[in-house]
Amino acid sequence: MRVVMECAIPGKLLCASTSGLWNPRKVVLSRRNTGLSAHNNLCSSKFKIKAQTHHTSQVGIAKPTNLTDSDIQGFVWPSPTDEIPFWKKEFPSWDANLELPSEQTKDSKLMHIVHVTAEMAPIAKVGGLGDVVTGLARACLSRGHTVHIMLPFYECIQKHQINDLTLITTYNSYHDGNWIPTNAYHGVVSGIPVIFLEPSCQFFKGRQVYGGSYNELEAYMFFSRACLEWMQVTGTQPDIIHVHEWQAGALPILYWDMYHHLSLKNPRIVLTIHNMEHYGECRQEQLSMCGLDGSLYATFDKAVDDRTVGHNPERLSLLKGGIVYSNAVVTVSPTYLKETLCSGWLSSTLMRNRDKYFGIVNGIDTTMWNPSTDVFLPSKFNVKNSEGKKLCKYYVQRGLGLASGDHVTDTTLKVPLVVCITRLVAQKGLHLITHAIKQVEELLNQGPSIRILLMYSEELSHLLYAAADIVLVPSMYEPCGLAQMIGMRYGAVPVVRKTGGLADTVFDMDDESNHEMANGFVFEGMDEASLNCALDRAFACYRNKPGEWNCIVKKVMKMDNSWNNTARKYIEIYESVTAS
Ligand code: ADP
Repeated sequence: MRVVMECAIPGKLLCASTSGLWNPRKVVLSRRNTGLSAHNNLCSSKFKIKAQTHHTSQVGIAKPTNLTDSDIQGFVWPSPTDEIPFWKKEFPSWDANLELPSEQTKDSKLMHIVHVTAEMAPIAKVGGLGDVVTGLARACLSRGHTVHIMLPFYECIQKHQINDLTLITTYNSYHDGNWIPTNAYHGVVSGIPVIFLEPSCQFFKGRQVYGGSYNELEAYMFFSRACLEWMQVTGTQPDIIHVHEWQAGALPILYWDMYHHLSLKNPRIVLTIHNMEHYGECRQEQLSMCGLDGSLYATFDKAVDDRTVGHNPERLSLLKGGIVYSNAVVTVSPTYLKETLCSGWLSSTLMRNRDKYFGIVNGIDTTMWNPSTDVFLPSKFNVKNSEGKKLCKYYVQRGLGLASGDHVTDTTLKVPLVVCITRLVAQKGLHLITHAIKQVEELLNQGPSIRILLMYSEELSHLLYAAADIVLVPSMYEPCGLAQMIGMRYGAVPVVRKTGGLADTVFDMDDESNHEMANGFVFEGMDEASLNCALDRAFACYRNKPGEWNCIVKKVMKMDNSWNNTARKYIEIYESVTAS
């Protein structure tokens, strides 16, 4: 197996795997030796000739006959030895002119919704949380609501991605006996008004969203209070404060036990839990740092971590406190909701709060994730004309050193490209990912077939989704999962483990009872044999039934997993809690 590690940034794995059936690696190497510009010219002109003259396809998959000169003109094929990797080249800004989703219908009751979150795509994104906050906010804006996102002004945020950044308020917010001078800035990101809070202490400094050298728990408790303090000093009274994850878990407590007794009367609080595994463990004295009396919350019906009862010291959980104190609690898929009611230490809390607990499957922002306009792709495509996808695949294969043929048909169409784009954590089924790498190599068994890239790259993720035939999501548990939905939008067929939101969005091709929904390959066990079975079926279909495969590709591309479908469910919850 050929494994190449590059540019390690902990916590992220991008894994692309494929093989060329006859992949004379020597040819690639000698070409690379011709130097970058010579290489580029050679490849683009060769490709042009081959694409127009090569008419056979040995696997029966349609040749890209619709490619026109303009599709391929100026194509500069990348190589793994390029000084600047293909995903780091200059791309046109994709945010500045991003339109809101073309939702026409405005809701009848319009509300002011403020999201309080630790992440926001694309400027402060670590995983799905960032995508969801941005996608939901944009969907609600397009339905006519007033929406703001409140975000820590992380030092790592690229300021050029923020439009019209302006300092709007300077105020003090409480932390551990001190009032910390804090700046609030207003800016626009992806069409959404954002309030950035910048405390004058060391919080949120560092090169990454998480993992700075400050205490994260204290920083997010400060942030939670600073959001409410800002609303109070500016007289902002939204209808809904929508908080996300444990990081904002102190806000519902601070709201109902402090700010609601001051001047904030109007807002109601909705909490979305994107992942129960992160629950904001907190000592009583730490909770006191945000101005609450921590000892008052160490009870079973408030915020004590049930597992620590009788321990010395007992612990609190900001997530549990958030659940208890919010008007409504949402998790990100109906199946994950059921799973969390049945198992896990929060299940008893969730059962006690069952009447206000809902499961809404996430959407994806179909403007941000759109293969027909995606600025990162070398060639755009859509369900009616998917020729561009073949170019994307070949482009990525070339760039990662997985292909060396001169023309797109021979190299790209015979072997499936499997991608797995994920955080590198146990939840994501690391042992199955490792096994899949071996299994894919065995199934293909030719030429350089595997690339593992340990890094975070938004650009490369778009390129990989566009290039992929198969998107692999073998998670041990998955609250919702966006990778399978994004993959489908870009014509990649999902191979997933049946858990959480994966079970709500992917349905097995071989399930006779559900042909209508069937859109991928699903396995249930946590073992390698279960994965093998799904992967083998996917490969067999790709290789032996190209017509059927193309139908699945078209089907998944046509699926509507947009926020249009699910934002309405959030609005209904907002409406129900504002009425109470
Ligand atoms: P989670 O939130 O648990 O990380 P999701 O599937 O809900 O998982 O969302 C993951 C999001 O993060 C997707 O948009 C995915 O493309 C993105 N992502 C994951 N890993 C990387 C990476 N290494 N580089 C770029 N984007 C990534």
